[in-house]
This record gives sequence, structure tokens and C-alpha cells, in this order.
Amino acid sequence: MSEAERLHRHLIGQQGSRRSLNTPALVLDLDMLDRNIAEMAAFAAAHNVKLRPHSKTHKSADIARRQIAAGALGVCCAKLGEAEALAEQGVENLHITSPVVTPQAITRLIELNGKVKDLMVVVDHPANAEALAAAAAKAGKPLAVVVDIDPGIHRTGVATPDGVVDLVRKVVQLKALKYAGVQFYCGRHQHIEGFAERKAAIEERTAYLKGILAKLEAAGLKPAIVTGSGTGTHFIDAKLGVFTELQVGSYVFMDHEYNVCDLRGLDRPTFEQALQIDARVVSANTAGMATVDAGLKAMATEKGPPPILKGAVEGATTRFMGDEHLAIIAPEGKAAPDLGEQVILVPPHCDPTVNLYESYHVVKGDTLVDIWPVTARGRSR
Ligand code: PLP
Ligand code: MN
Repeated sequence: MSEAERLHRHLIGQQGSRRSLNTPALVLDLDMLDRNIAEMAAFAAAHNVKLRPHSKTHKSADIARRQIAAGALGVCCAKLGEAEALAEQGVENLHITSPVVTPQAITRLIELNGKVKDLMVVVDHPANAEALAAAAAKAGKPLAVVVDIDPGIHRTGVATPDGVVDLVRKVVQLKALKYAGVQFYCGRHQHIEGFAERKAAIEERTAYLKGILAKLEAAGLKPAIVTGSGTGTHFIDAKLGVFTELQVGSYVFMDHEYNVCDLRGLDRPTFEQALQIDARVVSANTAGMATVDAGLKAMATEKGPPPILKGAVEGATTRFMGDEHLAIIAPEGKAAPDLGEQVILVPPHCDPTVNLYESYHVVKGDTLVDIWPVTARGRSR
């Protein structure tokens, strides 16, 4: 039993239990989560595009199963360890979106390929394609690979259109590999705040991708799968109609970073902030200020301090006070929350926040209904 379960299992299903949680706690609003999952599933179906949500966001077998039950093909994984952890829990149809290159990791990848129904992995270099093919040939089962295309960010992917054609040709020639398709993930573009600016940027990148797809088709190498997109551009990408599947991740939770983006040009939020951090006031000795028990260790911090969802007066702000603490600062002349009061925070950035916790405390309204493990926590290799 995990530490969170040991502390909180007795509360499950009892009244008012959210307030009784030991804090800081990672809390998931189940109704919001399910509405987010249903909304994206309906959107994909309406736009005739398949959905393979990215599990890097949640690292959870429970959430992956809910996404698949709502119509997703399977899920994406950022790392091999994530895929192994989800496969151990029976999640099938996994696509690993980062290259797997070391000999030890390739051995594990091939083992996983022998176990799960459908596995795909990206490749962006001919030497890696050869290494994967050699290992797959030895094991006697073909490995499905997706050629990753660099959208100009230079994180991963083949850097030039001709390079993409050459690598696809190589993959097709390597008999132990199955050419499944191509990937194109515009990471930086996801977070452009204004809808019009984001749309213009992604249209320009899509024109680049279309040029590559035309070259592939002319060479008789048309990909069956074109995978990519994210929460920030899903709406625009689906209308452009180039992707066969969407790799959206953060929509299930909607962290602060995404909540400030206008995702569909509607001037109202499309998805709900299902992921929250419950904290509690542990010191309140300065007028207009209170200190809660969720500091730098309770969330990813690179996007700044968290906004407050509930538990403090309108206009209150936060400031990190070190590893374990956060200040709640009330507006001039207003009171800060009292000792022992609960303050609910919005994670600034969901994926790296989740990785700090062993469990989700799943609530319906104010009632704790379940505790789900963060299945692939720490499985970054
Ligand atoms: N695909 C890849 C390759 C990613 O790295 C990510 C997230 O970083 C996603 C999909 C999911 O994107 P988002 O969280 O923007 O929906
Ligand atoms: Mn992210």
C-alpha cells in the first residue's frame, strides 16, 4: 500500500473527506476529467481523426483505460519506462514518441515488443534504424517504427525533407522493421497564447509537413499514420486535416499554462481544470499573509507560482517561500486565510507536477472516491 493510500484509504467514500486529506495532495476531479476525456473523444470523432492521447501527462493506467474506453486507439508514451509501466498494467497499443537508442534500452524495447499487442517507436537516425532492425530480427518479430520529423525546434526528428525520404526508404528496406508512419510534433507552437497567432504559426508548419508528405507519396512511400498535434493546436490541426491521429496530452488536466491559452478561438475555456493541489495554512502570523504547506517540492515551478482556485479572497496571489512553503498574499486591506484552512491551487505545468506524486486523490465534489497510483512515476528511462 502506498503512503497516500495508508494515510487516506479510510476516507474513501465518506462525507467531506477532501477537507480531511493530508496535504499537500494531488487531487483529481473525476467529473471534470471524464468531461475532458469525452469532449476530446467527441471532437476527434466529429473531425474524422483518430486519438492516441499522450500518457506523459498523467502516467496513469487508470486514466489511459478511461481514454481508451472513450474511443482512443491506445496511448503515447514519452519514454520506454513509461510504456513498460503501462504495459505491466495491461494497457495495449503504445507509441513511444522519443527515440530509444542505447543497446540496453533496445533490448528492453524488443522484450516489450514481444509482450504487447501493438507497439510503435519513433526513429530519427539511420544508425538507430539499423540497431533496432538488428535487435528485432534476432527476436523474430518485426518492430513498427514511425519516422520522426523535426518541425524546426531541433529537439528530435529528421531535420530536412530529403533526410525524411531517405530514412523512410531505409526503414522500408530493413525487413525487421515495419514502416508505420511519420510523427510531427510542434512543441513550442502549442503554447502560443493568442489563437490567431498560434493558428498562423501552425499553418506555416503544416505547409512544411505537407511538402514532405508530397515527396513521400511521389516516392511511393506514403505513410499510413501521420501522428502529432497537442492540446494547444488540436483544433487547428484537425481542421487542416493532415494528421491521421492526434497525440494530445494536457487536455485531460488543463494546467495554468494551457488555461491562459484560447484553445479554440472561442474566448471561453474548452476543457476544465481537473488537476488540483490541495494545500493547508500552517502559519498565519502576518497581516494579509498566510503560509501553506505546498512549496517547490509540491509542483513544477518553471512556469512560476500557482494561481489559487479556491480558499482565498479574490485577487490573492502566491509566492514561493522555499522547498516546503508558499505564501498566500491577500490584496491590500483584505484578510488571508486562517490557520488550518484549505487552499486549492492550480498546477502551473501538469506533467512534471504529476511526476512528483505517488498518487491521485480522486474526488467527486468534496468526497474522496478513489486513490489511483501514478503508475509510471519516475519511469523516465
Ligand atoms: N506529443 C509529444 C511528442 C509531446 O512531447 C507532447 C507533450 O510535450 C505531447 C504530444 C502532448 O502535448 P500537449 O500536452 O501539448 O497536449
Ligand atoms: Mn507539458
